[in-house]
Amino acid sequence: MNTMLAGAVPLLDCIILKYGICCDWTPCGIAMVAQKPAVVPMLSYLADDWARYSNPVRVLDVCGAAEVTGTNRFFGGILFEAAGRLNPLSYTRGLARAAVQRGAALFCGQQALSVERTKGRWTINTERGSVVARSLLIATDAYSNGLWPVLKKYFYRVPLSMVSTSPLSDEIANRLNPVGMPYTDANLNNLFWVMVEGGNRLVTTTVPPRLRPGDPARVAQPFERKLRRVYKNLPELHWEHAWSGYVGVTKDRLPRILRLGDDAYTIYGYSGQGIANATAIGAEAANLLQYGPDNCAMPITEPSVVTAPELTAFAMRNFAFPAIRLLDRYY
Ligand SMILES: Cc1cc2nc3c(=O)[nH]c(=O)nc-3n(C[C@H](O)[C@H](O)[C@H](O)COP(=O)(O)OP(=O)(O)OC[C@H]3O[C@@H](n4cnc5c(N)ncnc54)[C@H](O)[C@@H]3O)c2cc1C
Repeated sequence: MNTMLAGAVPLLDCIILKYGICCDWTPCGIAMVAQKPAVVPMLSYLADDWARYSNPVRVLDVCGAAEVTGTNRFFGGILFEAAGRLNPLSYTRGLARAAVQRGAALFCGQQALSVERTKGRWTINTERGSVVARSLLIATDAYSNGLWPVLKKYFYRVPLSMVSTSPLSDEIANRLNPVGMPYTDANLNNLFWVMVEGGNRLVTTTVPPRLRPGDPARVAQPFERKLRRVYKNLPELHWEHAWSGYVGVTKDRLPRILRLGDDAYTIYGYSGQGIANATAIGAEAANLLQYGPDNCAMPITEPSVVTAPELTAFAMRNFAFPAIRLLDRYY
């Protein structure tokens, strides 16, 4: 599985090129920097681990981290050279277009209400009609609903927001991402993402606040506090857009393929890292459905049940994340 996931970004790169998908894919690399000296050995260990799977990873010393972040606040880091940024909506649309051009039929805007197995075939029922298929793959991830009710026990849902500013001046954009490379610190429970995308907008991702989760300035507030501690004397930032969704987190934060029945599987549990990983696992699921389990590089595992997923999600959202934020020494 590690080898397959390590190949996820190269696969995504290859698919984008092969099908000519316009999604602002920029393989600019991504850095993870050490917010305290104690993190440096952990990052070196991570770099060795990734390198074992032939992933181009470079360890950054203090100067290397300063080159990427434009500040000498960080103690080192690692650089995932193959990684990058893209527009996920354009990527999804591009994948859909490529599939349709090769004969796939898409039925959009239709919720699958139920599935049933009759005469060795799966029937997927919607309000407006049914689709009959040899195989069934449920890929609803964090949005799994009543279609296959037990799936909801296998992960908990965490809300996540993206928030972006109006375009920054070149000077400020260069100050935050001097070599055009997004970065985050290594505080895994409260990541500090600093990304300046093509149009000079500063973009970050964060757990939305409980109050006014649609207000961009409110969503960005904890991030901005930290940003201003790292970069002194920044001008006023105009937070323009905020949008949010859910990520489905498994107990061990690892994605899964499960068998649900004859010729029926589900893939889920990307735990917030599904863009490249779901691409790679989706390809393996296609092999599985077409050629059988021996041709699938992803292990077909048993589910790992999350105890009280709704309560866990509530506790994470209302207690754990606010406490982590409060204890984060940058705030
Ligand atoms: C704010 C935010 C930021 C993120 N940032 C990143 C990032 O930087 N990098 C990264 O790798 N990942 C990121 N993620 C996670 C990533 O978006 C997911 O891991 C990924 O989208 C999972 O892909 P998927 O196709 O499995 O599921 P999804 O993209 O969630 O798609 C599931 C689909 O199933 C549909 N569905 C559900 N039930 C039914 C039904 N009964 N009938 C028909 N359709 C149904 C839903 O409407 C949905 O469209 C982020 C997520 C959020 C919310």
